[in-house]
Amino acid sequence: MTDRLDEARRALKTTFGYDDFRPGQDEVIGAVLDGTDVFAVMPTGSGKSMTYQLPALVESSLTVVVSPLIALMHDQVQQMIGFGVEAATLNSSVAEATSRETWRKIRSGDLRLLFVSPERLMMEGLIDALRGAGVRRLAVDEAHCVSQWGHDFRPEYRDLSKAREALGNVQTVALTATADKATRADITERLFPAGRDLKAFVHSFDRPNIRLTFMPKDNPTRQIERFLRHRRSESGIIYCSSRKRTEQLAEVLAKDGFNALPYHAGLDQGTRMKNQDTFLQEDGVVMTATVAFGMGINKPDVRFVCHADMPSNVEGYYQEIGRAGRDGLPADTLTIYGLDDMSLRRRQIDEKDVPDERRRVERRKLEAMIALCEGATCRRQSLLGYFGEASEPCGRCDLCRSGISLIDATVPAQKLLSAIVRTGQRFGAAYVCDVVHGKETDTIRRNGHTALKTFGVGADKPLPAWRAMLRQLFAAGAVAENDDGFGGLSLTEKGEAILFGREAIQMRPDPEPKVAEPRDRKRSGAAREDATLDLDPATEALFQHLRGLRATIARTEGIAAFMVFPDRTLIEMARAKPVDLYALRTVHGVGERKRDAYGERFVTAIAEHLAHGAGGNA
Ligand code: ADP
Ligand code: ZN
Repeated sequence: MTDRLDEARRALKTTFGYDDFRPGQDEVIGAVLDGTDVFAVMPTGSGKSMTYQLPALVESSLTVVVSPLIALMHDQVQQMIGFGVEAATLNSSVAEATSRETWRKIRSGDLRLLFVSPERLMMEGLIDALRGAGVRRLAVDEAHCVSQWGHDFRPEYRDLSKAREALGNVQTVALTATADKATRADITERLFPAGRDLKAFVHSFDRPNIRLTFMPKDNPTRQIERFLRHRRSESGIIYCSSRKRTEQLAEVLAKDGFNALPYHAGLDQGTRMKNQDTFLQEDGVVMTATVAFGMGINKPDVRFVCHADMPSNVEGYYQEIGRAGRDGLPADTLTIYGLDDMSLRRRQIDEKDVPDERRRVERRKLEAMIALCEGATCRRQSLLGYFGEASEPCGRCDLCRSGISLIDATVPAQKLLSAIVRTGQRFGAAYVCDVVHGKETDTIRRNGHTALKTFGVGADKPLPAWRAMLRQLFAAGAVAENDDGFGGLSLTEKGEAILFGREAIQMRPDPEPKVAEPRDRKRSGAAREDATLDLDPATEALFQHLRGLRATIARTEGIAAFMVFPDRTLIEMARAKPVDLYALRTVHGVGERKRDAYGERFVTAIAEHLAHGAGGNA
């Protein structure tokens, strides 16, 4: 086995241009090469696909890869072909001639990876045809889709164990980035044959290169604009909770000079595909999107992910932010949340036509998300804790950086709770805060609530402070929303205990963390274009120059820019400045096929850039 692992390591270098395995990759690949069933939970960007790609190369065998989205298989195939790996997909959008060619390669034993959707796999005839072709193993990507307890259940995934049986009970490898304990147990039961050896790996969920920042909603458009100010040449995704909002935001940002495009399931297929291609193929595109965007997006150089509204659960949140920084370079996130999001998410769950058990699961997941937003300790620690992983404070998230400690907030909490009780436990958050702060709105006057003892007891604190405290009460489970669908709040048992002084409550004194801006960084300086990466000016200049060349090549070949070379490779080139093909060999991400295809043009561009004295030190 070690021999074959060495062989895999060699293929990693010659085919992909990577020097070594990422942490954990080798043990999973070792298990796959051993022939046992494998279930691996590894974070996004850890290189999960390599765990079936390399064995297929080393063994010169065929792996059937099940992946949930047809639209993205095409990219996966192209990426493999870019590295010189024989890969193909079969689906309804593939031309007749291409399919014929694919079948020829399957029969001759030349194909390594065949990407199919679960629906396609189960269609009449495909499995029969494959059975004779010597399929070595089945790899199931995004395996959390198998489980009802996951956040992205796909009924079609349920039939995969039948497909495995029909293929002759081949070795099965399941991969996912996000599955909590219940989901993992469910996947194990549903996907793998009982009684056969199964090796499970759960790697750390930590993505140390991704920085976490949360911010209460104030003026979300302005908050996002501030966040983007120093990120003009970066690619990123902004998740919104509604289709309309994605379009509005794209428009605002476009006026502001950003290359911003919307994406949601309501756009016509053509626009959707066009926007997605632009995002994948060009540099510096901001996608304002609903959660419909992203599954399987394997663009490695997404530099930031913003949530303009609170995500509905921690797994979804983790998976969405996980799309940033797959290349291992620094990436930033910003999550904006408000009490209105919390009510909206609640209502969405209540209105869903699902069994009660499912509703309870979703509610619990939502509570965990709210607790993460309103948390008082390190975000990363809370996030990893959710997945059952213990860790130290990260020192880089908004809460670590602001170094806050909790203060006793029992008295102000009592003011809010009392206002809720005295107004009849039927008004929403905004109303309650107005009463406490003493804001005389028409409705409050009409309801006679200006005469209440609690009216204006909190005039000493600004309104946003009261709203922040109410959110924390909500997160702590001291108040709950009524079932009336109007967002009215009432006290829970815990809320009553606080109101009557039987229990104390601690809160964050300053609930308004700042947006991460370049001056917060260690190596500060003038506002730089590429804020997240923070390269020195000479490297930056050459990097941008090489990006220009990459864009030209990508456009001519009609492929995504990162498929030519990812940012990480261009940055290494800009630092190492190789001027011949031999020197280029050592650069990360330069395998044999790509060196042959693009090497000459890149080393020439570097030599020219240096000769013109543009920031070179040669
Ligand atoms: P995941 O599916 O786990 O999110 P991918 O398999 O898409 O991650 O890999 C993410 C990126 O990392 C890809 O561009 C891939 O080529 C690259 N990669 C994989 N393994 C390695 C490695 N050992 N060294 C460097 N880069 C790697
Ligand atoms: Zn932290």
